[in-house]
Amino acid sequence: MIRLNDEERAIVDVVADFVDREVRTAARDLEHANTYPERLIERMKELGVFGLTIPEPYGEVSVSKRCYALVTEELARGWMSLAGAVGGHSVVSYLIAVFGTEEQKRRYLPRMATGELRATMALTEPSGGSDLQAISTTARRSGDRYVVDGAKMWISNARHAGLIALMCKTDPEATPRHRGISILLVEKGPGLTVSRDLPKLGYKGVESCEISFDGYEASLDAVLGGEEGRGFAQMMRGLEVGRIQVAARALGVGRAALEDSLRYAQEREAFGKPIWQHQSIGNYLADMATQLRAARLLTLDAAERLDGGERCDIEAGMAKLYASEAAMQIALNAVRIHGAAGYSTEFDVERYFRDAPLMIVGEGTNEIQRNVIVKQLIDRNPR
Ligand SMILES: Cc1cc2nc3c(=O)[nH]c(=O)nc-3n(C[C@H](O)[C@H](O)[C@H](O)COP(=O)(O)OP(=O)(O)OC[C@H]3O[C@@H](n4cnc5c(N)ncnc54)[C@H](O)[C@@H]3O)c2cc1C
Repeated sequence: MIRLNDEERAIVDVVADFVDREVRTAARDLEHANTYPERLIERMKELGVFGLTIPEPYGEVSVSKRCYALVTEELARGWMSLAGAVGGHSVVSYLIAVFGTEEQKRRYLPRMATGELRATMALTEPSGGSDLQAISTTARRSGDRYVVDGAKMWISNARHAGLIALMCKTDPEATPRHRGISILLVEKGPGLTVSRDLPKLGYKGVESCEISFDGYEASLDAVLGGEEGRGFAQMMRGLEVGRIQVAARALGVGRAALEDSLRYAQEREAFGKPIWQHQSIGNYLADMATQLRAARLLTLDAAERLDGGERCDIEAGMAKLYASEAAMQIALNAVRIHGAAGYSTEFDVERYFRDAPLMIVGEGTNEIQRNVIVKQLIDRNPR
């Protein structure tokens, strides 16, 4: 099912070992204290996790998207927040590697590969995140600068990211609207404020913020690829990586929930036998494992297409849709199997149950995935 070369297999194993030794033991406390995982992020930098999607000569070890998905699954198996800390960074890495000018690649990618510079992407606005063509953040030319005004919501890692891929309108009057959209590569400076950390159900430890731009100045060469009006199409490609990453995060949460449940169902007894031997519990476990396997196959299939240079919007959308819904059901069944322990903050299962819904919403909601899938189905199968 998983075709990786020996080097990539070894990378996944190293990350799995890190997760077992250092993440699973620390995640519950960090989660409940809502503490930024500084030490674990440092270890991920040492392990090269932030550079896995950055090609040579800018990065040292670039892996296939299949390997990247499996590394993401491992991180999320330990603590979904860690995989979240890499998510936007990987999309921005991909955007710069594929669409960036040579100068942008040289300026950002080597430092992003080591994790010294971490990146996030800013698409969502207070008025909404699904209708991206309706964004109102603007970058207006003024002499040799852009002047940026507007607000973004739910921007993950905003305080710890040194680079933001900002989706904005360089031509607010353009029709169709997407032709007026560009991505600006912006760094922190006067006029850019991280105004608020948003309280949330799960995905603790890593901040999701409101950021505002008020007369922020960016140089003209901040436009990704050097040409205005291409940002929407660029981001749609970037989101293929993002959706595979979110699907892989769902795999990690689902796997952790299944593994904890398998253990608990053999240890816990009721009516004189381990609870897995009660058919209802056994059926939950069978369904959870089946859903997880199907989700992994969809995710690796989408990743393989991306590796092959094929367009994979429909496949990445299906993987993200299915894997996130599967993770939600698997996490709920894990709560059922654990009984009261599933509701206890002294176990990890309640965290999986709080983390799983993020994958339903993030990187385009599942309603939007269905829209993307059906549009592609009709386009590919005209009457
Ligand atoms: C923890 C967290 C971290 C995030 N990190 C980031 C980040 O780093 N960067 C970033 O840019 N964004 C981020 N987001 C935002 C996320 O991408 C958006 O929440 C998501 O795209 C949905 O946007 P919205 O919340 O504004 O919902 P809305 O767009 O207001 O939608 C509300 C509801 O209406 C439905 N809906 C809307 N339009 C349609 C339609 N055409 N057809 C069917 N249903 C529709 C939606 O599916 C949803 O159910 C994050 C969100 C969370 C919760």
